[in-house]
Amino acid sequence: MMAMAKPVVLLYEPIHRDALAILEQKAEIRWAESLQEDALLKQVADVEGIIIRANGRVSRRLMEAAPKLKVVGRHGVGVETIDLDAARDLGIVVVNTPDASTESVAEHCLGLMIALAKQIVRADKAVRRGQWHVRYEYIGTELWGKTLGLVGFGRIGQRTATLCHLALEMPILYYDIVAYPDVEAELGAKRVSLEDLLSVADVVSVHVPLLPATQGLIGEAEFRRMKPTAYFINTSRGPAVDQAALVRALQEGWIAGAGLDVFDPEPLPTDSPLLALENVVITPHMASHTDEALLRMALVVKDVIAVLEGREPHYLVN
Ligand code: NAD
Repeated sequence: MMAMAKPVVLLYEPIHRDALAILEQKAEIRWAESLQEDALLKQVADVEGIIIRANGRVSRRLMEAAPKLKVVGRHGVGVETIDLDAARDLGIVVVNTPDASTESVAEHCLGLMIALAKQIVRADKAVRRGQWHVRYEYIGTELWGKTLGLVGFGRIGQRTATLCHLALEMPILYYDIVAYPDVEAELGAKRVSLEDLLSVADVVSVHVPLLPATQGLIGEAEFRRMKPTAYFINTSRGPAVDQAALVRALQEGWIAGAGLDVFDPEPLPTDSPLLALENVVITPHMASHTDEALLRMALVVKDVIAVLEGREPHYLVN
């Protein structure tokens, strides 16, 4: 008897080796030769599953060119690169890993806050230039007891709140379209308007998904409302912030500094004015890049296999 052919799964980018080994048992792996749509179109005619990370898109045109496609797995949370309307119209299941990176991103946020408040990156660079004396110039601030304002209070916002509240006794304010009374009670957090949050918080950290309603949510008016001593953190999505307004806020001292993991566009162009600013700490969209989170995200393969085998996935997006 002929063995049944394994379904073909197209991977846009490499994933954690342990998850790849699980997928290899159940599927024939195909690697994307390029993430340009025209190139992808040539690779999907017989594909039954696609796994996408942060880069590339799964467009309607691509899904229409893949008549056997049953499932798109997002290694990570944000699904703005997948045409969800087209997936629904074509009966394609979309799965992701919503809990996988929460801890890593929240810890990264705390890291950016501490790096800014204690001027760690700036001091490191100065010492390497032989400027030991900056210890008298770079005077930091403590975070203990300072107010944290979270714009978006879902998984990552809440975990960041917990870390900052437990470790540094920071009072928590949040702005969200949804109320979370249980967490309010647990952390003594207060739900406030965006305006109030911006004018009171010592650290403002953004954790909204990228949606039409959140595009440019933090712009010039919002930065002008913040305290000149406040730090701004963005680990969500670059376009949630008006980056030109952020640059002016930093250059002109409307705020004290920024810790940024996400940008608009990415990669951040090498001539970006952000790179010339000393009061900015920059990481290249890597808040979730820990070994632990990368494995949890790569385990999206389990849900991809579940759908291919006709079982219910754990984390259904659509
Ligand atoms: P989540 O869905 O758990 O939480 C998002 C919160 O934002 C929800 O409480 C929701 O009600 C709120 N929200 C939605 N629209 C809003 C609006 N218009 N105004 C105010 N609040 C609104 O998401 P999460 O898992 O906490 O992820 C948060 C962000 O972090 C997302 O943008 C995600 O893409 C990003 N992320 C970044 C990385 C990274 O590597 N930097 C990794 C994972 C996630």
